[in-house]
Amino acid sequence: MSISTNLSSVKERLPQHVTLVAVSKTKPNEDIMEAYESGHRDFGENKVQDLAAKAEQLPKDIRWHMIGHVQTNKIKYFAPFVHLVHGVDREKVLKELNKEGRKNDRVIDCLLQVHIAQEQSKFGFDEAEIDDLLNKELGELYPHVHIRGLMGMATFTEDQNQVRSEFKTLKTLFDSLKNRLNSPSFDILSMGMSGDYEMAIAQGSTLVRVGTAIFGARNY
Ligand SMILES: *Cc1c(COP(=O)(O)O)cnc(C)c1O
Repeated sequence: MSISTNLSSVKERLPQHVTLVAVSKTKPNEDIMEAYESGHRDFGENKVQDLAAKAEQLPKDIRWHMIGHVQTNKIKYFAPFVHLVHGVDREKVLKELNKEGRKNDRVIDCLLQVHIAQEQSKFGFDEAEIDDLLNKELGELYPHVHIRGLMGMATFTEDQNQVRSEFKTLKTLFDSLKNRLNSPSFDILSMGMSGDYEMAIAQGSTLVRVGTAIFGARNY
């Protein structure tokens, strides 16, 4: 199967309102170009160095998503061009994004990562922390950052019921924050990967991050 064929078969399964981010981490520029030439524009990387290098080498109308864990000292490398930062998991990241946004005279869109999985290893805020954070005047504190929604990763398990219930939890939190913030631009719920994106969409995802199902398995 070719990349463009895989891409269309994933797209066929997505409702109109769901954005597909093609996760190209570890994959060469030629693979990205194959998807690009079939019309795709949203790509995701999880390592700052790869993100910066690919953005430099590839067409400028690509929308680059930073989907990995964010180290604050590396934000400067993607701040000038990044389309959406998915993994904001502590206030220090907001602070640094704001600083780099100001330097680049732009507002950086981002998502708060929520810890929904049972695994300890996955990053993210818990609900109480999000609550505390959103009690602050974030618009005044960080005018160069725009929080567009939430991102989460389910537990890596065969147990479909567990995955479904984690997505449901995230969707419920998303809806309640959307209500509370009363902001039409708090509108992105990033959940779902190759193995679970259909279930994530059924639970209310508006953006899926799909790698393997488009580009094939990764060799690390
Ligand atoms: C790698 C990765 C994906 C894509 O995973 P696949 O299973 O290959 O679709 C999605 N989200 C994040 C945060 C990732 O690191």
